[in-house]
Amino acid sequence: MKTDRGERTLTGLAISPGIAIGPAFISDDGAIQVPDYHIAHDDIAAERKRLADAVALSLKQLAKLKVKAAALPGAAAEEAGYLLDAHVAMLTNSRLVRGADRRIGEERLNAERAVQVELGQIGSSFAAMDDAYLAARGDDIRVVGARLIRNLTKTPYAALQRLAPGTIVVAEELTPADTALIDPSRVAALATELGGAEGHTAIMARALGLPAVLGVADLLRRVEPGDTVIVDGGLGRIVVNPTTATRASYERQREELEQERRRLGRFRRLPAVTRDGVEITLEANVELPRERELALAAGAQGLGLVRTEFLYMNRHDLPDEDDQYAAYAALVRGMDGKPVTLRTLDIGGDKLAGSIATDSPNPALGLRAVRLALKERRLLDVQLAAMLRASAIGKVRILVPMIANAGELRTVRAAMHQAARRLKRRGIALPDPLPPLGAMIEIPGAALAADALADEAEFFSIGTNDLIQYTLAIDRGDEQVAYLYNPLHPAVLRLIQFAVEAAMRARIPVNLCGEMAGDARFTALLLGLGLRNLSMAPSNIGRVKERIRTLDLRAATQRARQVMDQIDDARIASLVDDFNEMHGA
Ligand code: PEP
Ligand code: MG
Repeated sequence: MKTDRGERTLTGLAISPGIAIGPAFISDDGAIQVPDYHIAHDDIAAERKRLADAVALSLKQLAKLKVKAAALPGAAAEEAGYLLDAHVAMLTNSRLVRGADRRIGEERLNAERAVQVELGQIGSSFAAMDDAYLAARGDDIRVVGARLIRNLTKTPYAALQRLAPGTIVVAEELTPADTALIDPSRVAALATELGGAEGHTAIMARALGLPAVLGVADLLRRVEPGDTVIVDGGLGRIVVNPTTATRASYERQREELEQERRRLGRFRRLPAVTRDGVEITLEANVELPRERELALAAGAQGLGLVRTEFLYMNRHDLPDEDDQYAAYAALVRGMDGKPVTLRTLDIGGDKLAGSIATDSPNPALGLRAVRLALKERRLLDVQLAAMLRASAIGKVRILVPMIANAGELRTVRAAMHQAARRLKRRGIALPDPLPPLGAMIEIPGAALAADALADEAEFFSIGTNDLIQYTLAIDRGDEQVAYLYNPLHPAVLRLIQFAVEAAMRARIPVNLCGEMAGDARFTALLLGLGLRNLSMAPSNIGRVKERIRTLDLRAATQRARQVMDQIDDARIASLVDDFNEMHGA
């Protein structure tokens, strides 16, 4: 039941800055096509397990929503809590679940269809009761059933591709694959109940330049389809049904932000050089091929990180060598001779793809990234072959994620040479030497053993998103612990410093490509720690360049030394912020 149609303000995590005002599209499950087929007798047990797994996942989601709802003010917490409890009850030994399970066994229906048929039956018996209270319970069961079906089909929100321009997408949760389907010329902003600040949905929203607020408790009950919604991604605020005065004030702010964007755009052609004359290289991170143009428009000097996961998203088969080559070649050609860093697949963790099941009890610590690639060698071999072919067209670097030890990189190198030999036998010309092979430094153990890894790697790329997650034991995609996610924690800074110094001693290039690189608050500190190459979302390049052009590298280096003498993160934060204030940020 939705309440109160007047203006109301909700808060969540400030994910991606910008202000958007538009009609809400509630991304629920209405758009899902329910598959309908019969299963073989031998598959009954597996189908029942599929249903049980989807029930377990749904219960997990509800538990998470309940923790969030508990933080709501006053009676709202209680109200939302009751509702979620009712949903939990509808999934626990309920008629819906028992009935669906029986239909799988007796009628051999696929699990989605079994849930749908059972829902229909339950719905008609509720309707026959002619009681307003029970009719509302009937609605709840439909919502719960839709959740089950969605978890069974794992269907991305295909409806996101067909929205009217200016729409605000409101959802319980958007996966990175859902977000990849979003057309930024139609969607004006995102707001969700679940999702942390450094998860891939957040990164994708920033990459697309979409204002976004994630982790908004009780959002779906507060917004109705078509409500006017303001998303203030910089402050993490959602205003539903604003008054005329509120709307006018946000329109003014939006205009100011637009002016600021135009002002920063003027830095495009200027070099990223400090006041004392040191040139810094600024490159772009790319999640989706369409960002290449944004990168060039923002003045990126190369692509410092191409996350190749997009190739595996929203499909049920695997991209073959030619598919991948076509995508890499287009990026390399499109960068007009500037370097392109292709990262091998980083699937697992919060980056799941439909075609590759990574069933790990603890995905962040499980078969993710290079671990998966080395276990499923064909994935790696096909990808390396496509990358090597693209390296014949322009400057390519190959980067390997989640490296924990030198042996993994050695194995990837051997695989690369093997792939090169196979390509040569096919008559394909490759550059000599082959492209440099680098390691992501994003596991604390890798940072601490960076001197050993530097023997094996031709370059390092520091991934602070994971480095922070693993150092501080904080799930980067979980809004409940987002407050602990602190790039200025001394442990994180020491690991960065250690990796940078190891690279310098070994005379190999090092860059930083985590989200920290794109936040001008950290620019002076990162340069002070010795970094000279940063890679970030294209939309951040202007602001970081402006910061570089105002700072004196000697002073920044001195301040970084003072910072590294500290053990208290609050003191570190004030040293960083005071420096920024005194030196023109
Ligand atoms: C990182 O971990 O900082 C990084 C750049 O990689 P990703 O965000 O893709 O895990
Ligand atoms: Mg990472």
